[in-house]
Amino acid sequence: MNDVDRLLAANEAWAAAGTPPGAADARPRRHLAVVTCMDTRIDVLAALGLEVGEAHVLRNAGGRVTDDVLRSLALSCHVLGVDTVVVMQHTRCGLAGTSDEELRARTGADVDFLPIDDHRVALREDVQRLAATPFLSPVQQVAGLIYDVETGRLEDVVRSSTR
Ligand SMILES: [Zn+2]
Repeated sequence: MNDVDRLLAANEAWAAAGTPPGAADARPRRHLAVVTCMDTRIDVLAALGLEVGEAHVLRNAGGRVTDDVLRSLALSCHVLGVDTVVVMQHTRCGLAGTSDEELRARTGADVDFLPIDDHRVALREDVQRLAATPFLSPVQQVAGLIYDVETGRLEDVVRSSTR
């Protein structure tokens, strides 16, 4: 059985067991979106005390605010009622302490990887970008946090509620 077959088999057992499929409503009940890294060590819902149906979770390498994150958040806030955005980067991130040159050499991908020198600086940039994006005007609060993958604790780094 290959990896995809294992997923399909697990899904069949899960669906057959009558497990509830999740939230009844597509609108996040906590009016919240979380932007975070794809790192496997982060259990986003558990770490933030959230349940399925309460938040949009947007994940990418580094937990950076990219054009595609802005695209998703435009829908989150205008169509689905989100008014709070949390950007959660983390310790021991693969994008920290590296460079575009190094990552381009390793991957052959000529893209901007948004490497991170200092999480506090990166979070301030990302929170500022969210706060300054005109089409995200329904968003009332933005926060930047660092998640410690060893202790599970969060550091509250930056807040913006400029609207
Ligand atoms: Zn990461």
